[in-house]
Amino acid sequence: MPWGAPARLTVPRSASREDVERVLADRRSWIEEQRRRQVPRLGLERFAVTEADARNRARQIVSALAEREAERLGVAYGRIRIGGQRTLWGSCSARGTLSFNWRLVLAPPEVVDYVVVHELCHLLVPNHSQSFWSLVERHRPGWREQRAWLREYGPELLAFSPLR
Ligand SMILES: [Zn+2]
Repeated sequence: MPWGAPARLTVPRSASREDVERVLADRRSWIEEQRRRQVPRLGLERFAVTEADARNRARQIVSALAEREAERLGVAYGRIRIGGQRTLWGSCSARGTLSFNWRLVLAPPEVVDYVVVHELCHLLVPNHSQSFWSLVERHRPGWREQRAWLREYGPELLAFSPLR
């Protein structure tokens, strides 16, 4: 269920009223949990930024971090792309292009740092295997906390819309 949007239930045409009621009853606690999470908590309303400004800022922050951390990790990346995907924080292509979501500028610095280090680690291990997470762990022992932050607040961040 998209952040901030009303819950929608898709049922087969053949479903009876009773079937629908039963599905709703089964999912009630899940729906309530999702609703509870969808209360704005980050105070993002106060960020009146244009997307162009946010993208520029994101590029500056992410580039500075990537440059510093790539050296520490002993890796080289191709270029940095700033995107606005509604589902993704960062990605690393086989050709070494690193992509980051501009909405990261709204996240705490340690979260941005984690996302950048995570993608740089993919230059060494392209999947999410045990050896990948060991590598992340070695460089950012507190990574679980940042990942938990993204899981908890990420949807609200991704739903943020800039000024037109
Ligand atoms: Zn990854």
